[in-house]
Amino acid sequence: MEYVNLNAQVGDLSGVLGLARYLRHLPAISGDLPPGGRDFATDTDRYDFRGRRRVKDLTLRVVRGAGAEETEVEFQHNFGAVHPVRQRRAQAERLCQVCGKTASHTRDGWLFLMNHDGSNDYEGVKSTKPPVCLRCAALATRHCPHLSRPVAVRSRRPRIWGVFGTLYTPTPGTSRLTAHVDEYLPYGHRASNWFLASQLVVALKRCTLVDLDAEFAVLNGE
Ligand SMILES: [Zn+2]
Repeated sequence: MEYVNLNAQVGDLSGVLGLARYLRHLPAISGDLPPGGRDFATDTDRYDFRGRRRVKDLTLRVVRGAGAEETEVEFQHNFGAVHPVRQRRAQAERLCQVCGKTASHTRDGWLFLMNHDGSNDYEGVKSTKPPVCLRCAALATRHCPHLSRPVAVRSRRPRIWGVFGTLYTPTPGTSRLTAHVDEYLPYGHRASNWFLASQLVVALKRCTLVDLDAEFAVLNGE
C-alpha cells in the first residue's frame, strides 16, 4: 500500500490505481525475486493502464447520455469481488466490502456478517471479511454464496489483529520453499518473514448479535 496510489489520474480518468511509486521502487527489489516471479513483476505491460495485460478491476457505476453524441461512462472500484488491496483498505478504513462506502455503524458498533458458528458467542472472533453497510447486508444475506447461515454481529471495537495468508518454509536439501495451508498470523509473530499475507484480519471486540430483519425494517421505513 505504501507504493500504491488508490486515487490516481490517468489522462481523463481519475480514481484509478496509480503504480508510479511502485515502478520506481521495483528495480531495487526485483533482483531478490525468483526468475518466474521477476518476469511477471517486471512485465511493464501489466502496469500500463491501457496495456493488453492490465486487468481493470473496476465495475460500472453510471452511463450518462447513452446514444447521444457524447456518452459519459463512470466506473468505481469493484468492492464486490474482494481484491487484496481493497480488502485491506475496506478493513482498515471500515468501508463496506461490497459498495465501498462507509460501513453501517450504530451505538452497538460496526456491522459484520458471518456464518452462524453454533455458539452465539462472537466476542473476540477473527474476521477476514470487512464490515458492510445495511443495504449491502440485505443483498449479501440473499445472494452471497459464502453466507449459508448468516448472522449479523456489531462490534464496538474491531481491532486490527494480523493477517491471513500462506506460510512458506525452506525445503531441506533444495532451494525451494514449501507452502503450507493458509492460516491466520498475528502481527509481531516470528514467522512473519516467511509469510505471504493476502488479507487483513480484525478481531471483533465488544460484540452484540443483532437482528438484521429488524434493522432492515427500519431502513425500509416499515
Ligand atoms: Zn455497502
